[in-house]
Amino acid sequence: MPSEFEIIRRYFSRPARNALLGVGDDAALLQPEAGAVLAVSTDLLLEGRHFARGAQPRSLGHKALAVNLSDMAAMGATPRWATLGLALPAADEDWIAAFAEGFYALAARFGVDLVGGDTTRGPLCICVTILGEVPANLALLRGGARPGDDIWVSGELGGAAYALHGAGGAAAARRLHEPEPRVELGERLRGIASAAIDVSDGFAQDLGHVLERSGVGAVVHYALLPKFAIDDPALEQRCVLAGGDDYELAFTAPQAARAEIEALSGSLRIALARVGSIQGGETKLQLLDVKGKPMAHAAGFDHFA
Ligand code: ADP
Ligand code: MG
Repeated sequence: MPSEFEIIRRYFSRPARNALLGVGDDAALLQPEAGAVLAVSTDLLLEGRHFARGAQPRSLGHKALAVNLSDMAAMGATPRWATLGLALPAADEDWIAAFAEGFYALAARFGVDLVGGDTTRGPLCICVTILGEVPANLALLRGGARPGDDIWVSGELGGAAYALHGAGGAAAARRLHEPEPRVELGERLRGIASAAIDVSDGFAQDLGHVLERSGVGAVVHYALLPKFAIDDPALEQRCVLAGGDDYELAFTAPQAARAEIEALSGSLRIALARVGSIQGGETKLQLLDVKGKPMAHAAGFDHFA
């Protein structure tokens, strides 16, 4: 079995292109661009909680980075560096090689360097910290939504949760195991969106965070939400409104930005649906059905609920 140091050297020491110093010393050295601030975020993936035992290591490598890239997208930040904390039950080299493959393949697509981490024996746990850059004052916050703004959603909702039900075939499985972070969209929304969040714990709950931070309410038309094809209507509602793991962006923008956002959708080839509007008054999400009647909606995911 390889030692801890051999694992790091063999699998996690690819040269860093955007760092003064990457893996191999006591710390990495990073130089942000002039005028940029750092956006920093961490996500933990735990076996038995975020993924099932026996999950494909290549997909896990992809997903561990993808969920962090999604947080950069939601801030309008350009991801640049990542660190990887890894607890492994055993030094299974096939597993580690496939995991590293999935991680580095996605990292390369977005120009992200793996610059450090920690490796230990233990119950399988993957903790990625991502560092990105955004011009000072252009970060997309949750608190910027204003009455009259439109509410937009990228891609489609519910596919990942549908896959968790064992349905939806390869397309849904891909949404769950290999989500595509909306990094370019987040970057291009700088200066356009008034607020943004990534949909990781269910649309209704995540939009609720924006409403709370912004001190506003919202009306959303269920029929306008972009949905993964699910044939059971009750299950569709649960997956679309309260399913986790979509990693789409929900954002708000002034009505004056409609044409610009539609053009962006065309140039990035990402569907962007206008699903409702921000209201003054009570901090509450009103969800309306096709007839304009209020709909009840289930709560999103909460680890402690
Ligand atoms: P230290 O004991 O000083 O923390 P380590 O032996 O834990 O150093 O790590 C050696 C080097 O390898 C450090 O640069 C660290 O950031 C890096 N490293 C350790 N584990 C990983 C990993 N899973 N992915 C990337 N870099 C790692
Ligand atoms: Mg260490």
